[in-house]
Amino acid sequence: MSSTDQFDRNLKDAESLLERFRQSAVPNIIGGEVVADENLLDVLDPSTNEVLCKLSRGGASVVDRAAKAAMEAFPVWRDLPTARREKVLVAIAEAIEGRAREIALLESKDTGQPIRYMEKAAERGAANFRYYAKMASKAADGVSSPTATHVNYTTRVPIGPVGIITPWNTPFMLSTWKMAPALAAGCTVVHKPAEWSPLSGFLLAEIVQDVLRKEGLPAGIANLVQGLGEETGKALTEHPDIKAIAFVGESATGSAIMAQGAPTLKRVHFELGGKNPVIVFDDADMDRALDAVLFMIYSLNGQRCTSSSRALIQASIYDEFTARLVERIERIKVGDPLDPATEIGPLIHAEHLRKVVSYVGCAEEANATVAAGGRCEPDNGGNYFRPTLFTKASNDAAIAQEEIFGPVLTAISFADEAEAVRLANGVAYGLAGYIWTENTGRAHRVAHALDAGMIWVNSENVRHLPMPFGGMKASGIGRDGGEYAFKTYMEQKNIAISFGKAGVPRIGV
Ligand code: NAD
Repeated sequence: MSSTDQFDRNLKDAESLLERFRQSAVPNIIGGEVVADENLLDVLDPSTNEVLCKLSRGGASVVDRAAKAAMEAFPVWRDLPTARREKVLVAIAEAIEGRAREIALLESKDTGQPIRYMEKAAERGAANFRYYAKMASKAADGVSSPTATHVNYTTRVPIGPVGIITPWNTPFMLSTWKMAPALAAGCTVVHKPAEWSPLSGFLLAEIVQDVLRKEGLPAGIANLVQGLGEETGKALTEHPDIKAIAFVGESATGSAIMAQGAPTLKRVHFELGGKNPVIVFDDADMDRALDAVLFMIYSLNGQRCTSSSRALIQASIYDEFTARLVERIERIKVGDPLDPATEIGPLIHAEHLRKVVSYVGCAEEANATVAAGGRCEPDNGGNYFRPTLFTKASNDAAIAQEEIFGPVLTAISFADEAEAVRLANGVAYGLAGYIWTENTGRAHRVAHALDAGMIWVNSENVRHLPMPFGGMKASGIGRDGGEYAFKTYMEQKNIAISFGKAGVPRIGV
């Protein structure tokens, strides 16, 4: 099928999938019951800014019902044999795979992310459930060598109902990333998707509900609440029955959630923002480095937490490297997200586009050069913005310090290794860092010196599920991936058993 035919087919299929959401607003799902609100929000289509669908507004009373449903279902799910939990998670993975095209089309339409990337959303989501299905039976921790009087053993128990709050960028993948380990650990969940992109969260809830029904398990094991962060999200973080919050979003929202959760001593697990450096030394494999720098800032519309939004380029290759960047940037195809040829789609929302555009003014104020992009194009009512490169920037400028979260790269030059490390670490964030050099010793030195939770050397963001994912400084608390995420949703418990012969201290004799 030609690319044009595929585009037409995508548009037609997406329209027919959207039909059900045009008939009725995207609802909450509480204890298996579909709960529609009278208060509705508009969800806008990023490619036109017309109303895509209506969304239930949720709010505190909806959260209260969902938290109670999750609390009621918790003992059943916690006490289920782990092999059964594993079976449920595998069934969810299979159901996700069965609805892969629907997930890809609706995710692309809802978020503006190019379909070429969203085609992998279901596969990656299913992989999360399959991976954590295997971990479900690994809760036991170990036994310490017995002393003369006692044997100690430690175990892990699920923490209780967990609130999952997700952002609008790649929402399906991120929701599965949180939900799979939480369910595998034996926790029940209440999920609140972002109000700008709620469709795939709804599909996930529907999939999980189908599996729970077939397995004869309580529907309250997984609940879905809709609405605004400052209403529904806040209520979730404050609810006493919710024992932990797994949050992905902006660092400022993370601070607000910490304050909101403080009165109930909420456990928090945060994946937050980044301003990730990619350091290109003059001994790097230039062609591979160029491909990786372009991919890591301009794929996924630059709306990716690990995007390499600051390019630190050694002075001796700075002009050549930035000139080659400009040449390639001019060829990037910006267009409708459902067109298979599109490399950058519209940004999520007009409000977000205004924020991204405002950094062009910041660049000019800071005497940086707008070497590519910097304009809204195509100008057809959608939130389109050409991939942008700021050169001759200083690391102190707002364009180098703040997370822009769009297809915008700030290029800064450095003289030597020490300066590269100083610039790389000179921001509030510490999520990821990328290093390009053919010098192995330098690669190790710089990797150790960077304040970031994840470092990739001569590589783009290649993920391996068992490895820890997360950030230092303002970029997060805790780690996703592997057993790191799994243990987040559990409390460790030590049990000491006496052999019964040792004397016990006596009082009141
Ligand atoms: P955001 O913080 O504005 O919103 C995220 C979620 O939090 C939404 O569901 C929102 O409704 C909710 N929320 C907002 N205010 C709240 C409050 N007071 N209480 C409870 N919930 C509240 O983030 P965003 O703009 O949707 O997403 C983009 C951000 O997410 C970027 O900063 C990006 O770096 C970050 N992110 C980080 C990772 C990571 O793994 N580190 C991954 C993806 C995205």
